[in-house]
Parts: sequence; C-alpha cells; structure tokens
Amino acid sequence: MPQNQIKYFQKGFNFSQDGPGNRLVYHLYGCNFRCPWCANPECFAADTKVTAQTVEEVANEILRSRPMFFSGGGVTFTGGEPTLQFEALKELLIIIKEQNIHTAIECNASHPRLCELFPYIDHLMMDLKHPSDAAHKAIVGMGNQTVLDNIAAAASTRQLALRIPLVNGYNTDDACIDGFIGFLSTLPQNPLLTVELISYHEYGKVKWQKHGMEYTVQNGFVPPARLAEIRERFRQAGISTIQT
Ligand code: SF4
Repeated sequence: MPQNQIKYFQKGFNFSQDGPGNRLVYHLYGCNFRCPWCANPECFAADTKVTAQTVEEVANEILRSRPMFFSGGGVTFTGGEPTLQFEALKELLIIIKEQNIHTAIECNASHPRLCELFPYIDHLMMDLKHPSDAAHKAIVGMGNQTVLDNIAAAASTRQLALRIPLVNGYNTDDACIDGFIGFLSTLPQNPLLTVELISYHEYGKVKWQKHGMEYTVQNGFVPPARLAEIRERFRQAGISTIQT
C-alpha cells in the first residue's frame, strides 16, 4: 500500500511568526480558496515546484529538528491550506504528538473533518475572510458555513487564534464589520480565544505576477482612521482585538 505523502512548496525555520517560539514551518501545497489578496499564491500556481515526502520521512525530519524548537517552539503546518492533505496530515500529527512535539496549524477552517485534528494541535490559527456566505463564495470561491461551524466548535472547546484579514473593498464596510461582530458575539466566553485584525499588505503581489497570474486587488489598504474605527466597534461590542 502506498504511504501517505506530504506535498509542500516551502519549509524553513522562523521565530514566533507562525506560533510560539522557534518553529519549523511547512507550507503545504494546494488551496481550495482563491483569496485575491493571497500572500502565498504559489500554493495554487500550476508552475510551483513541489516537494513530496512520505509521512515517515517528514516525521523523522521533525524529530531530528527537536533541538531547534527552543522558546516553546515546534512545528507548524500552513499553506496553502494544509487540511487539503487531511489523511497524511492527521497521520503525521499523531506521530509527532506522541513524541511531545509542539504543533501548530494555520488554516482557512473549511475542512468538514477539521475537528478530528483538534486533539493533535496545540496552537490553532484560523482565518475568517467574510461573515456573509454569499459574499465569501463570490470572493474566495466557496461559502463560509463550514468555516463558521469549525470556528464555533474550536472556540467552544479550546485555544484558538482567529484572524480576520481586513481588505478595503472586500470586507471593511459597516455591514461586514457588523457581520463579523454579530458572529463573534455568538461564541462562548473563552479566555483562550484571541481575535487578530490583520491589515492588508501587498507582500504577495509580486509572486502573483511571477507565476503569470493577475493580482486583482486595487486600493486594498484600509485607511488608518477606518482601522481605528473598526477596532473601536469591536471594543464597544466587548471583543478585544490584536491589530497587526
Ligand atoms: S485561504 Fe490562505 S492560502 Fe488559500 S488562497 Fe486564501 S490566503 Fe491564500
């Protein structure tokens, strides 16, 4: 029987960006969304160079890297969308959790079986792109019902770092902000839930062009005064946010 493989387009160490401490970060290939502002469009570009390794090979590499996991570090799986490689990822997480490696996942919350991975994830990061199902589908190509269900499930039971990318022209008008706040207000009080408002940036723009794809976001930067207003609206609703 062929062994499950992990397919990734980038890996390397970074400190305190994709979870706590010094981390070995794997960017898994593939994504089921097409966010126009994606900073890692090589995750779905057809000409991306992809490396495939068996779960066993990746697990051994992670275990050999253990001395580098200082300051509470460990391994992070991001993307692309890591849960697209669900079976291989689950198998790998089980192996490395048995060895007490700290694990983090950064995902778009769209996988219908995501909850199965919760017992093997120490630090869970999930994105919410838009509160409206129809607008979510129009912008990224898929609706958000499973996303909302997964966020609610995680927020009810465990640590969750929820991130909301704020992109002018897509999700920063009053109706969207009310939608975000309305959804977040339905979640239970959870001291392990954090909400991060991520300001638009264009770090990925050049990569879209490099891979022959059109970058369609125009005027995505949110004016500082509007960012302050948005943050204040969250605060008034009793939701504290981290702004980055
Ligand atoms: S979900 Fe993440 S990786 Fe996928 S397209 Fe959107 S920003 Fe890019």
